[in-house]
Amino acid sequence: MTELTAILQGQIARSGPISVAEFMTQCLLHPEHGYYTTHQPLGAAGDFVTAPEISQMFGEMLGLCLAQAWLDQGAPAAFTLAELGPGRGTFMADILHATRGVAGFHAAANIVLVEASPSLRSVQQKTLLGYDVAWVQTVTELPYCPLFLVANEFFDCLPINQYIRTDNGWQEQMITAKDGALGFMLGRAAPVELFEDAPLGTVLETCPAAAAITADIARIIAAHGGAALVLDYGERQPVGDTLQAVQNHQKVDPLQNCGAADLTAHVNFRALENAANAFAQTAPITAQGVLLERLGITARAQSLAARLHGGALENHIAAHRRLTHPDEMGQLFKAIAITPKGAAQPAGFDT
Ligand code: SAH
Repeated sequence: MTELTAILQGQIARSGPISVAEFMTQCLLHPEHGYYTTHQPLGAAGDFVTAPEISQMFGEMLGLCLAQAWLDQGAPAAFTLAELGPGRGTFMADILHATRGVAGFHAAANIVLVEASPSLRSVQQKTLLGYDVAWVQTVTELPYCPLFLVANEFFDCLPINQYIRTDNGWQEQMITAKDGALGFMLGRAAPVELFEDAPLGTVLETCPAAAAITADIARIIAAHGGAALVLDYGERQPVGDTLQAVQNHQKVDPLQNCGAADLTAHVNFRALENAANAFAQTAPITAQGVLLERLGITARAQSLAARLHGGALENHIAAHRRLTHPDEMGQLFKAIAITPKGAAQPAGFDT
């Protein structure tokens, strides 16, 4: 049993069962034993690999997309270049590298990283050495000025609530301690008004933090201009139980190894859209593979391939496939773009 599992069991014994959201928050961000507080999760030696860690082409394509959106909106002279949950800082490093030829972009950019984990902040600092970077804890600390923002695999680690359809209507899924282990149990009736006719056993997930963060970003973009590119795995609408734990590239039981495994849920893109559209506009949800192809990843892949041989060339071809092919990340991963109402949609998104 991990130390955090013992702490959660003690807490439940004292104060009663906890929600899935409370459980996720503790597992990921507990100040001493949380997964992101104590682990270096990314890369082959870590627990999972993200798109920017697969190939520089991911950051290059999306960096140029963001810079084009900045040009389309009149190249504002001072803007926030922000990333949510930057991991090792690779995505931002590739964005900065790809945009160094865009006249005025770097000079106007004030780089702000939203990162909760102190240990990942220090990794990001090393990756982005030579750039002037500021860190904040939450999006509520972002400056009120034009905002050009990216977020990759950030929204999937925000805490979700789960509700289950039972004979008594909807009941919240809770986590309790029994027989020396953590287990799921049904909580009180929940105020879920939607999906009245859902079959018994249906699981519904909500992510209030995702909606709140999206609304905060959309509010700044609506008032000051900008664009947000959000990429993650998920669906166009809720699809049931998607809570998953990953350790050492394998799926593991979410209730075991608290603080030692990454804990995520699929992103409900429709909910992000609804939150953003209250203030700004969104481009239609676009599959990652389609987006990267439209942004020119194949031409870039071919030009990089011309300089590679042997194993390096094979890895490069595999990386292109992994990012774009529908059987790999191309279809499961999706993107939305948030811009001010009436602004041009960012390059690569359906109009
Ligand atoms: N975007 C990166 C890393 C994804 S891992 C990549 O694509 O490689 C998730 C990142 O979000 C980590 O940096 C983690 O520390 C951060 N994070 C998770 N929950 C957070 C929260 N509530 N607030 C701020 N950062 C958070």
